[in-house]
Amino acid sequence: MANSGQKVVLITGCSSGIGLRIAVTLAKDEKKRYHVIATMRDLKKKDKLVEAAGDAYGKTLMLLPLDVCSDESVRQCINNVKDRHIDILINNAGVGLLGPVESISIEEMKRVFETNFFGVVRMIKEVMPDMKKRRSGHIVVMSSVMGLQGVVFNDVYTASKFAMEGFCESMAVQLMKFNIRLSMIEPGPVHTEFETKMMEDVAKMEYPGVDADTVRYFKDVYLPSSIDIFEAMGQTPEDIAQCTKKVIE
Ligand code: NDP
Repeated sequence: MANSGQKVVLITGCSSGIGLRIAVTLAKDEKKRYHVIATMRDLKKKDKLVEAAGDAYGKTLMLLPLDVCSDESVRQCINNVKDRHIDILINNAGVGLLGPVESISIEEMKRVFETNFFGVVRMIKEVMPDMKKRRSGHIVVMSSVMGLQGVVFNDVYTASKFAMEGFCESMAVQLMKFNIRLSMIEPGPVHTEFETKMMEDVAKMEYPGVDADTVRYFKDVYLPSSIDIFEAMGQTPEDIAQCTKKVIE
């Protein structure tokens, strides 16, 4: 349980990558300012987080199950937090989807929006009443540079992040008068399983009905240059965790 003076921080998608690192960084804060509720949809994946948290596990870091695509799971998770009191919500969970629109089913596109857009909306709706009542809170959303700029064959992922940017920009204005902050973080490339999965998707990618010029541009220009950018400028989850820590301080 949080000590008085400690901020309760709930983070989504902590089984790997950025979410895991944010959870560990905040739980190991030298001044012990945070009580971290690290959530993941499948607690069987907790080992990496528990190992990285070390002594902080069970002290400044606890675990709860949470699938941001399920109303019931979101409700249950927040009900499990003492007094439903969350000072800082970090919406990190997200999925990517790479490929030409021609080869992606509407069902797959909806899954991306369910996670990246409605997942965030669900969480905000659930924590907002208590934050408004207490006239205090901070909501952080992990967007992406692709929430600001479209990228070839990332149409659906980009659209989901653009939608979230629009939603949050609008919400921020309404939340301001309740003293609730809403911050967006827009990372460029970060070395996580997200990147690995993207590269696997590229290897399997088919281009039915896509014109030859677009395919050539993707394979010969876009892909090699993005791999170069990843190698030269790719950040680590730790970089994003430190940035997040600064944002909430
Ligand atoms: P990872 O794939 O390593 O992590 C994604 C996390 O989201 C996993 O813990 C995953 O859980 C979780 N997740 C997916 N669906 C759900 C769900 N329905 N409910 C709860 N959790 C879920 O990727 P990253 O760490 O790189 O990505 C984290 C965030 O950062 C995402 O929002 C992504 O869009 C954003 N981002 C990433 C960039 C990058 O280059 N890596 C760049 C810019 C932004 P599970 O293990 O169960 O699948």
